[in-house]
Amino acid sequence: MRLIAVDPGDTVSALVLMEPNDRLMVSRYESNESLLDSLRVLDAEHLAIETLHVRGQPTSQNELDTQLWAGRFICAWDGPFTLVRRERVKGHFGASGVSNPDGVLRESLIGRFGGEAVAVGGKRCRHCNGKGWRGRDHHPCELCKGAGVQSHPGVFYGWSGTDLFSACAIACWWFDTQAKREAS
Ligand SMILES: [Zn+2]
Repeated sequence: MRLIAVDPGDTVSALVLMEPNDRLMVSRYESNESLLDSLRVLDAEHLAIETLHVRGQPTSQNELDTQLWAGRFICAWDGPFTLVRRERVKGHFGASGVSNPDGVLRESLIGRFGGEAVAVGGKRCRHCNGKGWRGRDHHPCELCKGAGVQSHPGVFYGWSGTDLFSACAIACWWFDTQAKREAS
């Protein structure tokens, strides 16, 4: 089962494509126009997309625009889908009722994917300042063994903002809680 998870935005959206056992195959931001095309061609069996639900709180034009896009994405996808409540995903990752839910979600996912060094990685080696060598004779750096990085870039390397983490969390939640229901 290959799942596409989307955290939609009013102009740009975050998409991940995941296989069982947290195998992250694709992760990227796309303009909404471009995502419409991607959803028609990406090779997957199910779509999980975050949508708004009544919360008894004021909404914004951005949120309403985002909902229109979510509808267009579902039409472009034209296959089985799950409408995802953000609260459920947050709760699944212990990010409900905390002051910084996006931060907790991110930390929780990084833990799930092996910790900072494995999941994000790619940190420049401080010993050689990322060069991989030291001194006049360019001796290979003994700390990073010439790689220039302390750890290799992981699956979350270079992820900026919170929306990719949010899309990844949707995918993990879906496999943890919904995949069996879909298969039966
Ligand atoms: Zn080094």
